[in-house]
Amino acid sequence: MNLAQALVSARTSGVERLDAQLMLAHLLGQPRSWLVAHDEVALSAVQSTQYAQWLERRRAGEPLAYLLGQTEFCGLVLQVAPQVLIPRPETELLVEWALEVLHARSTSITEPSVVDLGCGSGAIALAVRHRCPAALVTAVDASTPALDITRRNACALGLPITLAPGDWWAAVAGQRFHLALSNPPYVAPGDPHLAALRHEPHGALVAAEHGLSDLHRLIDGAPRALLPGGWLLLEHGHDQGPAVRQRLQQAGFSGVETRCDLAGLARCTGARIG
Ligand code: GLN
Repeated sequence: MNLAQALVSARTSGVERLDAQLMLAHLLGQPRSWLVAHDEVALSAVQSTQYAQWLERRRAGEPLAYLLGQTEFCGLVLQVAPQVLIPRPETELLVEWALEVLHARSTSITEPSVVDLGCGSGAIALAVRHRCPAALVTAVDASTPALDITRRNACALGLPITLAPGDWWAAVAGQRFHLALSNPPYVAPGDPHLAALRHEPHGALVAAEHGLSDLHRLIDGAPRALLPGGWLLLEHGHDQGPAVRQRLQQAGFSGVETRCDLAGLARCTGARIG
């Protein structure tokens, strides 16, 4: 089977052309742009078998990132597996905001301490470390497989960070940070969107109290884990902004602000401790 035929077979299987191109590019170790000029290149028997399996699994709804075992986030190629959430483009907003905070403070602080709570694949922690090499970054997760994946990504990318196993703030008890970041589980149990997310880890997506329980724990524990003037930046669901803002105010934060993602949905809220 050559590449032109492989793309036809994707169409007949009902798999999007872009997904099929990314599969073929991955199999052949070439950039996607290379495929366009190489219609006649043939897949080996092993490659054809793998491709046919991927088409079938993709058609059945498995995310492409899990099939390929990798995805891109903030320009970094990250390994992913079904034990971790696939990093979303909208989470790049949290990273951009973190860098803004760090660059604004870098004049006075030489090595800002940053913690990413619930690191999953390590996407946020590694993107921050990549773009702000002076930052001392700690990545927390209660899931051992997630920390293993973060460790592998950190090694592969040559980005040294500290890993801390455990449950939210308990993992870094006694430590204090200039900046805390989290994309916690925030989908309400029974939310209809969960059907489309069935391949991803339930524990990384769903939280009790209408999706707010982990956001509440993160906010309530932050004042004693942040240095004076430290920031907490959180990703949340599009309708959770008011609840998150209110909780931050109750916990003693000031300058509470919500930012929208590229789709115009309220996606991140941040604030500073007095
Ligand atoms: N943004 C994800 C989604 O709904 C949810 C991520 C999360 O719960 N942290 O697809």
